[in-house]
Amino acid sequence: MSQLHESLHSEMQNQSGAAVLDVQGLTKRYSGGVFKRNPIEALRGVDLKAGLGEVFGILGPNGAGKTTLIKVLLGVVKPTSGSAHLFGQSVGSVEARRRVGYLPESLRIDRHHTARSALAYYGRLSGMTSVAIAKRTEELLDLVGLSGRDREPVSRFSKGMYQRLGLAQALMHDPDLLILDEPTDGLDPVGRNGVRRVIETLREQGKTIFLNSHILQEVELVCTRVAILARGKIRGVGTVDELTQHLSSETYRINLESAEQFDRADNLQSIAQQIGIDHDSLLCRKRAEGIFELHASLSERSQLDSLVDCLRESKNSIQHLEKQRPSLEDLFMKLVEDHGDRAE
Ligand code: ATP
Repeated sequence: MSQLHESLHSEMQNQSGAAVLDVQGLTKRYSGGVFKRNPIEALRGVDLKAGLGEVFGILGPNGAGKTTLIKVLLGVVKPTSGSAHLFGQSVGSVEARRRVGYLPESLRIDRHHTARSALAYYGRLSGMTSVAIAKRTEELLDLVGLSGRDREPVSRFSKGMYQRLGLAQALMHDPDLLILDEPTDGLDPVGRNGVRRVIETLREQGKTIFLNSHILQEVELVCTRVAILARGKIRGVGTVDELTQHLSSETYRINLESAEQFDRADNLQSIAQQIGIDHDSLLCRKRAEGIFELHASLSERSQLDSLVDCLRESKNSIQHLEKQRPSLEDLFMKLVEDHGDRAE
C-alpha cells in the first residue's frame, strides 16, 4: 500500500469511522408479472463494506443482482429491506448523491457534442458554475487523455475515447465514489488499457471505485477487493488471493518428454486410476514431437507425489513442474456452479 493510501485509510478511520459504502442485510424483491404471482428475489441479504481508496469489484453471472445492487446504491431502486449507506448517509439522499459519480453501461452522448461541450453540459446538470466547469474540464481532459481532441465531435471518437469521456463526465462534480457499470465492455485491449489506467490514477488519488465487470482478467488486474454475487447472495468477498486460496483443488503444470504418445486418452485414464483421481482432472496437450504439457487438478498433496512416481515409473522425463495460481475464473466458476442453478 502506498504512503498516500495508508494516510488516506487512517484519515478515514479517524473521521466518523463510516465506510464509504456500507450495505447490510439488503434484500430486493420485484413483484413478478401482472398478477404479482411470481416475485423475484434479486437481492437476498447482501452485506458489503468498502473503504476509501478501494477499487471494489462485483462479479456475478447474468441475473445475479448486480444491476439491482447498483440501482439501490444510486437511490433509483428502493430496497425491500435492509440498509444501504454511502459516506454514512442513506442512499438516495442529496448528501449521498452529491458524492457519487456514475458511468452507466451504455452512456449515450449526443453526436453533435465535442468532449468539451459534453463536459460543460454535464457540469451544468450538476449545478456547477462556468468558472468551475472550465477549470474541471481542463483537469479531466488531461486525466483521460483527451486534451488536443477536445474540439472534435464525439461521432469521430473511437469506443475507447468515448468511454474515457464517459469517465470524465462521471467525475465532473469531483465525486468521492465512482460507480462504473461494465466500463470496458466492447473495447479492444488498447481501449481497455486506457480505461484501466484512468481507474488506477483515480485510485492513487484516493477515490473509491465500485466496478461491475464481467471481464474477470480486468477485475483481477485492477480491483483491490472483489465480491462474488450469485442468485442475489454474496458468495465470497476478499482480495483475489484470499478468495482463490480457498479453492479446494490445486492445479499443477508438468512439462515432460515421453517416447510414447503420452496424450492418448487410455494412457491418461490409466494414470488417473492409479493415483485415484477423476480422469477429467488430467488434461494433456502435445507441444512438439515427444514433448507434452500435462495439467493436473489435485485436491491432496499426496496425489502429486503419486503422479510424479507414476510418471517416472513409465520412463517419462519430467522437465518442469509448476504449481499454478488458481485464477479468479476458477473461483468464479466453482462458486457459481456450487450455488448458481441450485434451488435454495
Ligand atoms: P446481468 O448481468 O444480466 O445484467 P444482473 O446481475 O445485473 O444481470 P439484475 O439485472 O439485477 O441482474 O437482475 C436480477 C434479477 O432480478 C433477475 O432475475 C432479473 O430478471 C430480475 N429483475 C431485474 N429488474 C427487474 C424488474 N424491474 N422487474 C422484475 N424483475 C427484475
